[in-house]
Amino acid sequence: MHIIDKINQRIDEKKPFYSFEYFPPATEDGLHNLYGRIERMAALEPVFVDITWGAGGSTSERTLGIAENLQTFFGLDVMMHLTCTNMSVERLDKVLEKARHAGIRNILALRGDPPRDSVWERTEGGFSYAHELVSHIRERFGDEFCIAVAGYPEGHLEAEDKDICTSHLKHKVDCGADFIITQLFFDIDEYADFLQRCDKQGIRCPIIPGLFPIHTFDRFKKFVQFTGVNVPAAVWDHLEPIRQDDAAVRSYGVELGIKMCERLIELGAPGYHFYTLNLQSPVMRILEGLDATNGLAADRQLPWRPSTFPTRREEDVRPIFWSNRPKSYLARTMDWDEFPNGRWGDRHSPSFGALKDYYLLRRGIGLEETDQKLLEAYGEPESYEDIYEVFVRFCAGELDTFPWVDGEIQAETQRISTELIALNKAGFLTINSQPQVAGAPSNDPEVGWGGPNGIVYQKAYLELFLSDKNLNAFLDHVDKFPTLTYQAVNFSGETHSNLRPDAVSAVTWGIFPGKEIIQPTVVDAETFHVWKDEAFEIWREEWAALYDEGSASRRLIEEIHDSYWLLNLVENDYVNGDIFTIFRDLGVLEQPAGPHQDLKRNDAGARLAKEPAPTGN
Ligand SMILES: Cc1cc2nc3c(=O)[nH]c(=O)nc-3n(C[C@H](O)[C@H](O)[C@H](O)COP(=O)(O)OP(=O)(O)OC[C@H]3O[C@@H](n4cnc5c(N)ncnc54)[C@H](O)[C@@H]3O)c2cc1C
Repeated sequence: MHIIDKINQRIDEKKPFYSFEYFPPATEDGLHNLYGRIERMAALEPVFVDITWGAGGSTSERTLGIAENLQTFFGLDVMMHLTCTNMSVERLDKVLEKARHAGIRNILALRGDPPRDSVWERTEGGFSYAHELVSHIRERFGDEFCIAVAGYPEGHLEAEDKDICTSHLKHKVDCGADFIITQLFFDIDEYADFLQRCDKQGIRCPIIPGLFPIHTFDRFKKFVQFTGVNVPAAVWDHLEPIRQDDAAVRSYGVELGIKMCERLIELGAPGYHFYTLNLQSPVMRILEGLDATNGLAADRQLPWRPSTFPTRREEDVRPIFWSNRPKSYLARTMDWDEFPNGRWGDRHSPSFGALKDYYLLRRGIGLEETDQKLLEAYGEPESYEDIYEVFVRFCAGELDTFPWVDGEIQAETQRISTELIALNKAGFLTINSQPQVAGAPSNDPEVGWGGPNGIVYQKAYLELFLSDKNLNAFLDHVDKFPTLTYQAVNFSGETHSNLRPDAVSAVTWGIFPGKEIIQPTVVDAETFHVWKDEAFEIWREEWAALYDEGSASRRLIEEIHDSYWLLNLVENDYVNGDIFTIFRDLGVLEQPAGPHQDLKRNDAGARLAKEPAPTGN
């Protein structure tokens, strides 16, 4: 999508927005850490994110790769920076073609900085100024790309004066730029003057101020020297006495950031662009201080984040099985050209891509630093109880990594975390779930989605691994619960189910003014068998593989992979049902305490509690 359309929409709605800039890290470990951070920051619903182009084109492949991944797998609208440094027109065209092919539709067109300690020089067969790049993109690609350009509130370092610099900016806009992002600054008066100069020059496109959250004194000083921007005396006066105290500098950075944002909005800024330096916390704290993170549910289009790859934007339904692994789902269905109605068709079809590509993106499995972190998180399990403990700790929020989940546990899961923890302790190893919602406002911070004034619903869903013995106990009891539907499958494909093989049922849906019912998440009985291969493979590829061949931990995990079942369970009575009742009936969960206890269920619980719980292996 063209970012300018989103920006204009937010301007019309008078809703300030924000965007985040990242730079490509130098190492693979750094890259995987960055992906994790961007994923967490994506929950803040930035209007777009952008990726810098290393000085002299030093990161071109990496910049393109990151931009493509964020666009395809993270559901973010991405802007790629592109500079003319060391680039002939031919090379620029190659990059632009690649970007277009990757679905990238937004470019920040820049001249670029010279390599360190040298003067900028035009490359033979290349451009001298950013405006030439803007014109060239427009001539060659028409309106295919949205184009942004850089503005300098205090004038560019090489510019003769501020007025001339602004007239050059106007020229870039006249050549076809859609909006302007400014250089970082700390002097709001300078920014106010810049806006006046732009106005005088007749610049009418959106101007987004660039903000640099001060994180450490040394970094701040380095950037100030590098960019030559003015720092008001009051800022220096605050920072000098605390320069050795990192925490105090960070707090002041947040305080200053909040004040600046407030002033910028008064000056008519449509939003703010953060130079994140790949850091999460300063930006988060500023946005929290501005109260900008409230009401984010209203910005969530669907319960899951749709890909922004052009052919995927219209996708509106997904199987629930991948809800914790959206990138894997996208990787495996990327070649489908029939969205949104193609669904997933025949599960034997080769259209379900292999998992290989996804693993390249997945938290850097196989990288030394990542493996080390995973080992620290999962320990060296020697017993079934050790394995259960990993599941328990993840549900309790004590682990920030888990083989079956990209990112963190979803906020809505907290509603049922007590039951999930108890199930996992008893060897019912949960990997996916959603609580029941019998109508909640669409702006509910945990379960809301789809825009304002709607009502959203969910059936309770549970997906878990369990031993043969526990499955048999479950099967002995399940007929007593006619509103439960389930499927169980083991690694070799044996199944038990009370669903038709081609059944598809909505488990999340929403009612919105002036719209048909939207049902973005389903349980699709056929597709469960595709997911099952992946879910079992994760035991081996993402967990067992961390331990040496033949080690006790590896053998234990492989044993579970070979002998456990994967069960999915839906409580179809989303008003009065309780998906956990069957586990109380099994004696695995305690009866709920309090005045709402159902006497009949209590009796059954008391009876079963005398029998040993069907856990263990
Ligand atoms: C938001 C933002 C993001 C950036 N991202 C990157 C990045 O990813 N990678 C990177 O290497 N650098 C990046 N930069 C730095 C940027 O490349 C440098 O500041 C560079 O020196 C100028 O780029 P420009 O596109 O503004 O150049 P231009 O607009 O071409 O201006 C360069 C200089 O030439 C002058 N000028 C322009 N037109 C004319 C003309 N017709 N005749 C005479 N003089 C003229 C301008 O006044 C200015 O002094 C970024 C800067 C900003 C503000």
